[in-house]
Amino acid sequence: MRAYRGRFAPTPSGPLHLGSLIAALASYLDARHQRGQWLLRIEDIDPPRCAAGAAATIQRQLEAFGLYWDGPVHWQHDRHAAYQQALERLAALELAYPCSCSRKQWQDHPVYPGWCRDGPRQPDSPLAWRLRSDLGPTPISWQDRLFGHQQFTPTAMGDVVLKRKDGLWAYQLAVVVDDADQGISDIVRGADLLDNTPWQRQLQHALGLPTPRYLHLPLILADNGQKLSKQNLAPALPDTSDAARPWLYRALVALDQSPPEGLATEPVETQLAWAIDHWSVGAMVACHARPAPE
Ligand code: GLU
Repeated sequence: MRAYRGRFAPTPSGPLHLGSLIAALASYLDARHQRGQWLLRIEDIDPPRCAAGAAATIQRQLEAFGLYWDGPVHWQHDRHAAYQQALERLAALELAYPCSCSRKQWQDHPVYPGWCRDGPRQPDSPLAWRLRSDLGPTPISWQDRLFGHQQFTPTAMGDVVLKRKDGLWAYQLAVVVDDADQGISDIVRGADLLDNTPWQRQLQHALGLPTPRYLHLPLILADNGQKLSKQNLAPALPDTSDAARPWLYRALVALDQSPPEGLATEPVETQLAWAIDHWSVGAMVACHARPAPE
């Protein structure tokens, strides 16, 4: 078995909230419980989505919660050459192709119908790059450590965008290239990314990359029943370790780890030491989303 290497890979669109803390904490605990490494990658490939100062705030918050990462922080903004190389490889294998279609043109279809597979329909207009879903293994299946057997038909998911018309890299390509280059063995993240995983598995196969294990976590819902997110005005978490204590405890409760009551007021180091020892994926209930714990 490969040495355990996990990661937390936030998009710096704002400070951490309870939902992103849960993803950070679970990936940290899973790594430390298995005496593995835990890396931090800032996914800042999409400048319009990144908020000024958010990456620094996230790092401060992680430190306040005692979630120290191994090695230097990895940034996606300076990884252009690696993504370009992966794209060229896919193009050489005829698994990726340039596409001129706009969303409006195919809006009556459930997924993009692959019209540009044999060459872009309008070669002089801006081009995106897409991955062919009709070549490669089908169905795509894997075992999620919480949600169990997963199976998807690539053609039903369509030809995912790898590079956008505006020249920005798509998350799917960047995440797969970086997970492989960082030697990530285990991916622990929110269940909102469960249905992105088949594209990532498809890309790993096409690029001949190793397959990580996956553990997706139930999402926490805001009071209005929507996913807890910055857009939903989820409260930002503190960046001092005293104020972090009750939030860390709440995150452990949300992960079904049943921490003893007295732990809520203990320093974050004490809470984490308990949680690393007692970390149990088996204790977690597999549901896609649930309300925030009190
Ligand atoms: N950057 C993604 C996010 O913040 C997470 C990527 C991942 O864990 O694969 O939602």
